[in-house]
Amino acid sequence: MNGMNGSSAPEADLYGILNISKSASKAEIKKAYHKAALQNHPDKVPEGQREEAEVRFKAASQAYEILSDDQKRGLYDVHGMAAFEGGQGGMGAGMDMNDILGGLFGMNMGGMGGMGGRGPQRPKRSPDENQKYEVSLEDLYKGKTVKFASTKNVLCSKCSGSGAKDGVEPKTCATCKGQGVRQVLQQVGPGMVTQRLMECSACEATGKVVNPKDKCKKCKGKRTTEEKKQLELYIPRGAKEGDKIVLEGEADQIPSAEQTGDIIFHIVELPHDLFNRAGADLQATLEITLAEALTGFNRVVLKHLDGRGISLIHPHVEGEILRPSQVIKVKGEGMPMKRSDAKGDLYLIVEIQFPEDGTFSDPATAEALRKVLPGPEPPIKTELTDEAHWEDADPEEFGKGAPGGGGAWVDEDEEGAEGPQCATQ
Ligand SMILES: [Zn+2]
Ligand SMILES: [Zn+2]
Repeated sequence: MNGMNGSSAPEADLYGILNISKSASKAEIKKAYHKAALQNHPDKVPEGQREEAEVRFKAASQAYEILSDDQKRGLYDVHGMAAFEGGQGGMGAGMDMNDILGGLFGMNMGGMGGMGGRGPQRPKRSPDENQKYEVSLEDLYKGKTVKFASTKNVLCSKCSGSGAKDGVEPKTCATCKGQGVRQVLQQVGPGMVTQRLMECSACEATGKVVNPKDKCKKCKGKRTTEEKKQLELYIPRGAKEGDKIVLEGEADQIPSAEQTGDIIFHIVELPHDLFNRAGADLQATLEITLAEALTGFNRVVLKHLDGRGISLIHPHVEGEILRPSQVIKVKGEGMPMKRSDAKGDLYLIVEIQFPEDGTFSDPATAEALRKVLPGPEPPIKTELTDEAHWEDADPEEFGKGAPGGGGAWVDEDEEGAEGPQCATQ
């Protein structure tokens, strides 16, 4: 106990538990927590001290949970542990709930209307509907229009969304007292309770209810009816992963909102067999034979995303050779750019198809090749020479030859970042 929070929280000094100063940085807090977690982990201490260690372990975990979160830490600094206790006794006697909720969730209860009994403040819009939409690279290259049928909830045309039959005035909902929302306490951890606003289900957040006998005949009191609608989704040429396509006002209507949200499609680009994309540029492999690399070619090397063949002539200048992993650029053959006629570039990575084993096993052919191709550099001079044996290898095995394997050295700071249970293996 360093006395800093003595007056408001005599029961738990989180800084003291982690043995850090009140001005400790986030990195210091994390480090101190890892240290405490390792020292007190129940698996790491002798039998007789286990119970005590477990208490310290839990205390360190809770201290870390609060101090590693800027908002919670700020709240703790002001109110002590009272900010996180409650449940039975309410949110800490004598404390202003606005302070706590405001600190935790950036919520101002006064500003929410409703809570203070000043009349409900309804959401102005029904929620947006977010959906993923997977698109092939071909379709992103060419652009695409997709038509689809959508079933949408719309406000009942007969009762205009009141749910009541003609001439009947809906009554105030008793469950939420007409607010449309209710406060709900939710336990989020040991001794930690948060306050949440939930829509009132009794009145579908409208604040009004209708007697069973007074219900609208068309929607049976549900306030909305289903409507089938043909929608069109236009994917522009050059659209990319993460782009949003918004169909305004096409989300479900809800009785408690004046406006209707959007359907928002989030484009997901499907992987392609031949092409990699980065922004407006494309990348692909240029597969050529060894003979073509050395002596040249003039042929279609690739089928583009729109089905066109891409033909290349090699060499540019007499005698030019293409080498493995060499990169060549075809300007203007990348992806189209949105709202423009410009295109990115196509990068081709040379891959040489070497002849199969045995192609040159005939001694005369091998000799002829040796004559045509350049020989090795001058011999390497050494005092001692061993003739070594070799075999085919798996590149993945490189570095795995150490006795005991490679798992012994794990950075303590990296593991366990998610919580105490990961702090040891
Ligand atoms: Zn109706
Ligand atoms: Zn209600």
